[in-house]
Amino acid sequence: MTKLSHERSKALFEEAQQFIPGGVNSPVRAFRGVGGTPVFIAKAKGPYLWDVDGNRYTDFVMSWGPLVLGHAPEAVVRAVQAQAELGTSYGAPTELETRLARKVTELMPGVEMLRFVNSGTEATMSALRLARAFTKRDKIVKFSGHYHGHGDMLLVQAGSGVATLGLPDSPGVPRGAAQDTLTLPFNDLGALEELFARFPEQIAAVILEPVAGNMGLVRPKAGYLEGLRRLTREHGTLLIFDEVMTGFRVALGGAQGHYAVEPDLTTLGKVIGGGLPVGAYGGRREIMQWVAPAGPMYQAGTLSGNPLAMAAGLATLEEWSRPGVFEAAAEAARTLVEGIAKLARQAGIPLQTDQAGTMFGFFFTEEPVSDYASAKTSDVQRYAKFFHAALEHGVYLAPSQFEAGFTSAAHTPEVVAQALEGLEGAFRSVAD
Ligand code: PLP
Repeated sequence: MTKLSHERSKALFEEAQQFIPGGVNSPVRAFRGVGGTPVFIAKAKGPYLWDVDGNRYTDFVMSWGPLVLGHAPEAVVRAVQAQAELGTSYGAPTELETRLARKVTELMPGVEMLRFVNSGTEATMSALRLARAFTKRDKIVKFSGHYHGHGDMLLVQAGSGVATLGLPDSPGVPRGAAQDTLTLPFNDLGALEELFARFPEQIAAVILEPVAGNMGLVRPKAGYLEGLRRLTREHGTLLIFDEVMTGFRVALGGAQGHYAVEPDLTTLGKVIGGGLPVGAYGGRREIMQWVAPAGPMYQAGTLSGNPLAMAAGLATLEEWSRPGVFEAAAEAARTLVEGIAKLARQAGIPLQTDQAGTMFGFFFTEEPVSDYASAKTSDVQRYAKFFHAALEHGVYLAPSQFEAGFTSAAHTPEVVAQALEGLEGAFRSVAD
C-alpha cells in the first residue's frame, strides 16, 4: 500500500505554529495524544473529510459530536444561507430562539426552560453559578475523567481515589477558584454518600456526564444514575447532567431520556448548534426563573441566541427527530463496534468496546472499564499506532484514546462496511 502524502498539512502546521499556540485553537487537534502532524481539512460532505493533500477519510469524530446529520447536510446549509441573507446578528430577540428552545424542551424530559449561550464551557459555568445561587451553597462535586469545559472551577485535578480536594489542573487557575470543587470516582455511589456526610448542607450541585465521553466512552452502572438522583434529592443538592455530548446522541431525549432519570439542570451544546457555536443550560422552571432578567443570577452574551446558529440548530433537530433517523445512526454505531470487536478478536488483541446510541468507544485493555482508573489501563501507545494505521486506511478516528467516537445519519451501512475494511488493515498492523 502506498503511503498517503501529508506534505501540505505539514507545511500548513509549521506556518500555523508561528501565529497560533501549538498551531491549533483547541489542544486535542494537535495530535499530541497520538504523535505526528494533524491533517488540515479542506472540505467535508456527508460522512467524509478531505484533507488539503486530497486524501479522503471516513469521519468518526464529526467535529467532536455536533454533526448528527453528517457534514454539510442540505437542510442545514439551506437554513444558514437563508438566514445569512436576513442578517447574521441583531442583539435583539428573534422567533428562532423560541422555536429552538421549544424544540429542545419537547425532546429533553428535564428541561422546562433554557438559556442559550455560545459553548459548552459557558453552559456548565452558568449552570454552576445558578446552582450556587439557588441553593446558597458553594461546594460542587465532579467526577474523575469527566470534562465540563475549561472554566476555572471545573478544571480540577481529577485524580483517582476518593474525594480529591480541589487542586487546579492548569497553571493560572487560582486555588480559590478550585477549592470548592470536590472530585470523586465515577460509578461509586458509596463515595458520594461519604462526601455528603463529610460536608453536610454545603454541596450546591453534583455535575456529571451521565454517560462519560471524555475518558473514552464509559456508561453508568445499572442503578447509578437513579442512586445519584436519590442522594442529591435527600441532601438538597442539585443534580446537573452535562449532556453537551450525550444530548440527542445517547437517545433523542439524551441520557436523561434513555435512563429515565430527570436532573434538576441540564447543560447542552454541540448538536443544538448543528455545527455552529451554541450551548445552553436549562432545567426546572422554578430554578431557571432565577436567571436574569427574570431573576437575580446574572448571565449574558452579545452573540447568545445568534440567528445563524439558531437556524442551524433548528434544522438539525428537526431532521434528526424524524422517525427512524436516530435509530439508523445508532445502528451504524452498533455495527461498527461489533465489527471492531470481531476484528480485534481475530487479530488476538485485547479490546473493550462499548456503545450508547450514536456514541461508541474502545479501549486497548483486558480490564472492563467503569471509571477513569480502569480507562487508564488502556495501552495508549497501541492506540496511537492504531490511529495512524486507520488514517492510512482512510478512517479518521479521534486523535486520543480517551475520546468517544460518533456516527451520524450519513453513516449508511455501506459507509460503515467500507470503514471496517480499512480498520481490518489497521488491526493487522498493530497485532505485531
Ligand atoms: N461538557 C462536555 C460533556 C463536553 O464534552 C464538552 C466539550 O467537549 C464541554 C462540556 C465543553 O464544551 P465546549 O468545548 O463547547 O466549550
